[in-house]
Amino acid sequence: MHVLISGASVAGPVLAYWLHRNGHRVTVVERTARPRLGDGGHAVDLLGPAVEVVARMGLLPQVEAARTTADTMTLIRPGRPDVTIDGAQLLAGVSDRHVEIMRGDLARILFEATREHVSYTFGTSITELVERDGGVHAAFSDGTSGGFDLVVGADGMHSGVRRLVFGPEEGHSHFLGGCLAVFSVPDLVGLDGRVLGYNSVNKAVALYPTKIPGRARVVVLFRAAEPAPRDPAAQRRLLRGVCAGLGWEVPRLLEHLDAADDFYLDSISQIRLPSWSRGRITLAGDAGYGPGPAVGGGSSLAIVGAYVLASELAAAGDDHVPGFAAYERAMAGAVAASRTIGPSVLGTLIPRSELQVWTMAQALRVLPRLPGFVQRKLTSFGGGPAAMLNGVRLRDPLVLRA
Ligand SMILES: Cc1cc2nc3c(=O)[nH]c(=O)nc-3n(C[C@H](O)[C@H](O)[C@H](O)COP(=O)(O)OP(=O)(O)OC[C@H]3O[C@@H](n4cnc5c(N)ncnc54)[C@H](O)[C@@H]3O)c2cc1C
Repeated sequence: MHVLISGASVAGPVLAYWLHRNGHRVTVVERTARPRLGDGGHAVDLLGPAVEVVARMGLLPQVEAARTTADTMTLIRPGRPDVTIDGAQLLAGVSDRHVEIMRGDLARILFEATREHVSYTFGTSITELVERDGGVHAAFSDGTSGGFDLVVGADGMHSGVRRLVFGPEEGHSHFLGGCLAVFSVPDLVGLDGRVLGYNSVNKAVALYPTKIPGRARVVVLFRAAEPAPRDPAAQRRLLRGVCAGLGWEVPRLLEHLDAADDFYLDSISQIRLPSWSRGRITLAGDAGYGPGPAVGGGSSLAIVGAYVLASELAAAGDDHVPGFAAYERAMAGAVAASRTIGPSVLGTLIPRSELQVWTMAQALRVLPRLPGFVQRKLTSFGGGPAAMLNGVRLRDPLVLRA
């Protein structure tokens, strides 16, 4: 088969790898003009089965070499003593098999592993999809067009394929009541491997080092009554309004907002579709079942979902009708579980009251003194991210045709 994939970040290249391994021809179109390189955006977590998929691709050494680690996390409390905790203790409950890596590094490793066998076109999007004559006709933004046997949208939370096939995003995107902003700044405070956090009612700010010496990244999570605007100027205004009156280094960090060329702000929303396949077209990763940015689990779900899609297609003898149905059945439990993570993580990370600001600091202070199993329970966010993928069966890669 000739399979067209939209999106070359996480789900797209993993799917391309396994489809190629299974004897298919694969074309990937990616909207951005070049592969995501450099220190790339934000840190993502690969948990249990996602680490296993990466290992089966032979990429674990590269992924582990690029992993990021926070030595310590310090909660800043102006006027009161800071609370510092070991980074490993903070993540104790997330998963016993866990790798944190910048999304750009992960995307680059996946792209390098597939570029020889997969046709990548950057700076291009799908503009039209029509199913006819036992295939799908696709038109592209560069004016070209072509016929494919199957099409997969792996193009993220704001998926173009989902819009073309299932209609406007508003119908599938469920706002969780929070927003997330990320932008790069000079390392004003000399982080030296530390992550610094500062909380206020309805707002949480974190500052963490990047791989570029002298640079740091700011993350602001905040509660909001409505989804974020899409216009960058309006987003910057919104962030300034949200941060007005905040103490610590926040005013100095905001001085660098206009100069940040990687400024990102989005609603924390989940993609909820009763079924994410229609005819010969399906979705993988955030496009089909994104649990929400920054709440955890999205990258692992994208990797495992792409693997499961390729293996269920193979197990169905490349017949997309039973193959797509088996893919959706296999992922249903994990997708349902992933939807519980966002509300739980938002409830924990963004304090609702001065009392919660205080209790969070006290909880962090006592955490290192608690027995290991209690630490793991308290840092597991209700077991969400770690437990989410437990029920997914990773078929043996040998079911895939050589
Ligand atoms: C700030 C932030 C922090 C996050 N933190 C975490 C975390 O700690 N842990 C975690 O697990 N996850 C985290 N996530 C979520 C994680 O990044 C995603 O779940 C994961 O990247 C999903 O992979 P994906 O391949 O499905 O989609 P994406 O990584 O979003 O990739 C989609 C790709 O499709 C491309 N694209 C978009 N539209 C089109 C189009 N119309 N045509 C062609 N190409 C298109 C995009 O350019 C992109 O390359 C975070 C996300 C953000 C934004």
